[in-house]
Amino acid sequence: MAEGTSKQGGAPEQELTDGFHLIIDALKLNDVKTIYAVPGIPITDFLRMSQASGIRVLSFRHEQNAGYAAAIAGFLTKKPGICLTVSAPGFLNGLTALAHATTNCYPMILISGSSEREIVDLQQGDYEEMDQLAVAKTMCKAAYRVLHAADIGIGIARAIRSAVSGRPGGVYLDLPAKLFGQVMNAEAGKKSLVKVIDPAPAQIPAPDAVKRALDVLKGAKRPLIILGKGASYAQVDDLVRQFVEKSGVPFLPMSMAKGLLPDTHPQCAGAARSTVLKDSDVVMMIGARLNWLLSHGKGKTWGDAPKKFIQIDIEPKEMDSNVEIVAPVVGDIGSCLTAFLSAMGSKWDAPPAEWTNAVKTKREENVAKMAPRLMNNNVPMDYHGALGALRTIIKERPETILVNEGANTLDLARGIIDIYKPRKRLDVGTWGIMGIGMGQAIAATVETGKPVLAVEGDSAFGFSGMEVETICRYKLPVCVVIFNNNGIYRGTDVNKASDDPATTVFVAGARYDKMMEAFGGVGINATSPDELKRAVNEALDSGKPTLINAVLDPAAGSESGRIGNLNPQSALKKK
Ligand code: ADP
Ligand code: MG
Repeated sequence: MAEGTSKQGGAPEQELTDGFHLIIDALKLNDVKTIYAVPGIPITDFLRMSQASGIRVLSFRHEQNAGYAAAIAGFLTKKPGICLTVSAPGFLNGLTALAHATTNCYPMILISGSSEREIVDLQQGDYEEMDQLAVAKTMCKAAYRVLHAADIGIGIARAIRSAVSGRPGGVYLDLPAKLFGQVMNAEAGKKSLVKVIDPAPAQIPAPDAVKRALDVLKGAKRPLIILGKGASYAQVDDLVRQFVEKSGVPFLPMSMAKGLLPDTHPQCAGAARSTVLKDSDVVMMIGARLNWLLSHGKGKTWGDAPKKFIQIDIEPKEMDSNVEIVAPVVGDIGSCLTAFLSAMGSKWDAPPAEWTNAVKTKREENVAKMAPRLMNNNVPMDYHGALGALRTIIKERPETILVNEGANTLDLARGIIDIYKPRKRLDVGTWGIMGIGMGQAIAATVETGKPVLAVEGDSAFGFSGMEVETICRYKLPVCVVIFNNNGIYRGTDVNKASDDPATTVFVAGARYDKMMEAFGGVGINATSPDELKRAVNEALDSGKPTLINAVLDPAAGSESGRIGNLNPQSALKKK
């Protein structure tokens, strides 16, 4: 008799299964290996059974962090990351991550237990009552509810296909408590399960679209390629490299596309960003969007020279979202780049040397200007001294996955720390949200087996800080570095109106390292770049959960980092 089946008393005898087992069997049939979750009614037993069945369950302290873990697991694996939560409040906590996954095009499935339909729909006040499906619908790519055990197989199959096909995104799956205990014939149950065949089918671009794009690229005098995190997601790293190198065009990696080709690659224009955005005449977007992160493709950032945009994207609606796309190429990046490479033939002329040399010169100038600042060993540390140390560490250990959030900590680390391998930089994504840190750090090492260095602003860390207990509990090779400048943006604001502290400052001289020690991890207080470097190297060598409190000058940092311009200004504010 198979595990989880039982004989019913009386004749005729039949083997039974139930909702619990069918959900687990359906997930396993579709190669789900890990669930990120917070237990509670009605999913506690479900998680125990999942663990017993061989699925790895990472049990978190807050659903939002479990959700961010699932979302980034989806990004790293091209399979939906699974997050499980309890009903109403747990579901709502997970919802931020589901919306985040959808916005970032990460495949993820949020599965939440829910209370009974009969009671919810009559609004009779059930335990944790909420019409979760209705709430979720506006925040994700698709939302489904399963009411009958016999539909579990098809429900999970739909959720998986919806998450990963086309433009990936978040899917909500609503499982009312009663479903888990529903019983059905084991044989019929087994037959009802669906293994999703070809969940993300290739989308081949039209040949005339490829030709149109190549014609535009060929005619360019100052071409630029922008690589986005869609290109990282696609996991066609060799094709990306071949295409970029064959084209000879300078490339600019968006934040999470860094490392697709090394930031030190001769064609990388990362250190000449403003110049290439301004001066280019043809811009080819590969898995990147012209959203706020690229000033919507217009305005000062892009200069006065007229631009022509080529765009490769799996989502047809993305074309012309902000500016005219003269050469839209709709398809998956692997199929598109394959088509481009074959249409380019054996000989392809590099862009004018005048342009590539100008980019190179600008880049070298900027790198040289930055270099001395990164070598300072000042106490208290400034951002450049601290990041200079971490930059060397990533250079020496390019397999390490860098997780990064904060304001100044994010903006400066993005520019300063070179990345050498694909999908080794995970950050705040499209929304620029704070709170992804510990969830992403946990999933990154769980999914890849690689060590993680999480570089966190002290404020950003606060959103997910309790998960250091999770890191210690699962003994994960995660080294968290907190850039502690005593506050949000800076620790120097003063409230002159009352005895209350200013809204942006935290307890001065806080020792975040003690938090790690409380759970059996290694905590270190580092006051100079040298100390910081030593501590991080030790942590990465030992693989022990470590938290380093990097003491920064409280006056280091600027308001909102590089995006202070997005703050509205009161017309009445005293100058
Ligand atoms: P970035 O922030 O790096 O610019 P975005 O998340 O804004 O990246 O853009 C990623 C784009 O990549 C999205 O428009 C998405 O539709 C697209 N995309 C994701 N996966 C693929 C894929 N496999 N093939 C083609 N396009 C993809
Ligand atoms: Mg700070």
